[in-house]
Amino acid sequence: MVTLGEYIWMDGASPTQKLRSKTRVLNLADPKKVSLESFPEWGFDGSSTYQADGHKSDLTLVPVSFVKDPIRGEGSFLVMCEVMNPDGSPHASNTRAELRRVLDAGAAKEEPWFGFEQEYTLFRGRSPLGWPDGGYPAPQGPFYCGVGADEVFGRDLVEDHARACVEAGLMVFGINAEVMPGQWEYQVGYRGRDNESADPLTVADHNWICRWLLYRLGEKYGVTATLHPKPVRGDWNGAGQHTNFSTKSMRNTAGGIAAIEKAIALLEKKHAEHIALYGHGLAERLTGKHETCSINEFRSGVSDRGASIRIPAHVSKLGGGYLEDRRPGANADPYVVAARILKTICEIV
Ligand code: ADP
Ligand code: MN
Ligand code: MN
Ligand code: MN
Repeated sequence: MVTLGEYIWMDGASPTQKLRSKTRVLNLADPKKVSLESFPEWGFDGSSTYQADGHKSDLTLVPVSFVKDPIRGEGSFLVMCEVMNPDGSPHASNTRAELRRVLDAGAAKEEPWFGFEQEYTLFRGRSPLGWPDGGYPAPQGPFYCGVGADEVFGRDLVEDHARACVEAGLMVFGINAEVMPGQWEYQVGYRGRDNESADPLTVADHNWICRWLLYRLGEKYGVTATLHPKPVRGDWNGAGQHTNFSTKSMRNTAGGIAAIEKAIALLEKKHAEHIALYGHGLAERLTGKHETCSINEFRSGVSDRGASIRIPAHVSKLGGGYLEDRRPGANADPYVVAARILKTICEIV
């Protein structure tokens, strides 16, 4: 059967890498029986993606993960790729390769699970959705998880996106309207199913594909999604990517809290190293206001949304579970965030 595969990869844009994709016509023997081997490697022009010079431009896309394509439908796929140099080594922009290395160097043994809360802001032209042209809406308060045409903006796109993610088989956990009007969140990763691993490679791949689908579906509405960590200056919430994670020992309700506390102590020592990797423009968001801890401080606490690390109340009560790193910005790279967290808590160099 002749179908289409959309090959998706991260470009070399600085300071924040973006997504690129192109379409490969596939000839699949049986679209119900596909594996990574069904998707051939492919080349691209790295000089047009900030990844190479014109005179040495050929780079390779290596498929590493795929889901059903909910837009093109039956038999078509979205294919996440790593970018490789012609000699087969990971390209400098390939942040997924470092996450693989950290897992192989010992982190995988701890059976880590991740869940990202991806916040984003919808814009039409230069204003966030629902904002009067060149002006401001009513102050924050009624918008978070709101309902009604005067409270939430962009729901049609958000619903489309939710359905597309589920149809694709992405590990989406939930969706909510956020505190700032025009701002939304989806969570992707651990979703409480027995025997389902929320391993960091899969979950980070899924977040990149969720992002791609959001941008792609926005094309239909003439709406853009931005991951800017502080899309509007002033008394408005920024956009983060709270990163929830656990290891096997943290999830054990007999003694998991001790493992969580040990991880927090290790995270405290590496605060600056984490901040450096948690997204461009992070200082604009981590002000100590609007449910953040100041970028210069490290604090943890049960149920504390003004802390760097929050232990959810139910985790503290149960005696084990997971913790939430509230510092990453919406524009942080989930591969980089997961790799840095695992390096710190598993003490990998
Ligand atoms: P918040 O109260 O911070 O807004 P959400 O309900 O939006 O929380 O998100 C909870 C997140 O925690 C989800 O991304 C989910 O995948 C993640 N999560 C829950 N349990 C675990 C766990 N044991 N390990 C890792 N992540 C988890
Ligand atoms: Mn949330
Ligand atoms: Mn949120
Ligand atoms: Mn959160």
